[in-house]
Amino acid sequence: MHNIDIEVVEMSLDIIKYAIGRVTSTTPKLGFPKSEAELDKLAGETITAKGIGGETAFKIFRDVLLESSVSIDHPRHLAFIPASPTRAGIMFDLVTAASSIHGAYWMEGAGGIWAENQAMKWLVSLTGLPEGAFGVFTSGGTTANLSAIVAARGAWRDKNPANERTRGLIITSAGAHSSLKSMAKVIDADMISIEIDDRFEAEHLAEALASLSAEDRARTFAVIATAGTTNSGVVDDLKGLGKIANENDLWFHIDAAYGGGALAAPSVRHMFDGIELADSITIDPHKWFFSPYDCGAVIYRNPEQAKSVHSQAAAYLEIAKGETAGFNPADYQIQLTRRLRGLPLWFSLAMHGTDRYTQAIERGIELAQIAGRIITETPHVELIRAPSLSCVLFRRIGWSPQEYTDWTYRNHKSGYALITPTKWHTRSGNETVARFCFINPDTTEDDILGILATME
Ligand SMILES: *Cc1c(COP(=O)(O)O)cnc(C)c1O
Repeated sequence: MHNIDIEVVEMSLDIIKYAIGRVTSTTPKLGFPKSEAELDKLAGETITAKGIGGETAFKIFRDVLLESSVSIDHPRHLAFIPASPTRAGIMFDLVTAASSIHGAYWMEGAGGIWAENQAMKWLVSLTGLPEGAFGVFTSGGTTANLSAIVAARGAWRDKNPANERTRGLIITSAGAHSSLKSMAKVIDADMISIEIDDRFEAEHLAEALASLSAEDRARTFAVIATAGTTNSGVVDDLKGLGKIANENDLWFHIDAAYGGGALAAPSVRHMFDGIELADSITIDPHKWFFSPYDCGAVIYRNPEQAKSVHSQAAAYLEIAKGETAGFNPADYQIQLTRRLRGLPLWFSLAMHGTDRYTQAIERGIELAQIAGRIITETPHVELIRAPSLSCVLFRRIGWSPQEYTDWTYRNHKSGYALITPTKWHTRSGNETVARFCFINPDTTEDDILGILATME
């Protein structure tokens, strides 16, 4: 199996040929899921005692499985948070895998970790955090958020040994991402989610803190703001919230998993004023920094503090902290063995330069503005709120929730587009509305017009 034989060479050529074809294509098929039973039938038995051969397995992937998966970089995929990895990033993801580097410890991964850290330095510089702040790449925003709140709780418990047995409490707003509630469950902390899905502001936090019992106040250890809510692109009042968190000695975490890309966009950078007050920040390069999946990042104001919480100790790991030790990514987040998931970002940044990133991110913001203008001028639709970052919420006048659902499936099934509905608090209650999220700079104005035409 580990021999280099003719089958391995042929398989490699097939795979590289496919990869080059896919990476240079500007019109990937959208893809639509088949049922598991259908896939069972179409693909047949693939795991057998003797193997089905690389050629057959690859053919099944290409002809059956691929068509049953969505190409998230399709220019008319505007659902959830789409993606649009750079071609350089994708190709270097292949190189990263081919190079077999262990990304947990400097002892084994020095060169690769050095490159990751160059990309990280740029991300940190965008935040305006003071000298000394640094971070690591994680598998995504969820694990970045988890790593941050574990560090936050550790800091709180370090301050007072009595907290060691106290269940912690986190304050956030309803606009915060679902992963935060899940991760609070993972660490068995309580969470107050203030009922505002629009901008979370200083007054809301001050009110919430004032209304806590003395006992709850004592177990509050973190405030979480969102810089670019996933649903609508709202950026919370980072300055106001950060000031209150700092005054109250509470860890201030900012979840910028989606919105973080906009830190590199001068037209909206002012919306993030106050981000430099954070104790930790989550950014997902696999969203708006065009990295292939998966690549998240967690950044700490004080990495040493995070290290004291996250660093793993084991007899067999001691050597990795000896003479050849350096920056160890394993010390700053919850994962030990890790791929160098920041490497594709490093290569793409090094190849293109940061200006090209700024241009591509600005294009997403511009597309949201264009969509907003077109919606305002089109009779059968109307804006719910002004576009924020690259998110646009709008209503098809007169539609029921079922009609939005049918429309989504109709466009998806035909292979034209994938756009999904969401909900927003309006005068008519928790209204079902349509939503665009722009990431892919190849999406065009014609795409927007075409999609709106499918709602007539
Ligand atoms: C996407 C997102 C997450 C979750 O990130 P994953 O990479 O999917 O784990 C968390 N917070 C926000 C604001 C997000 O947009």
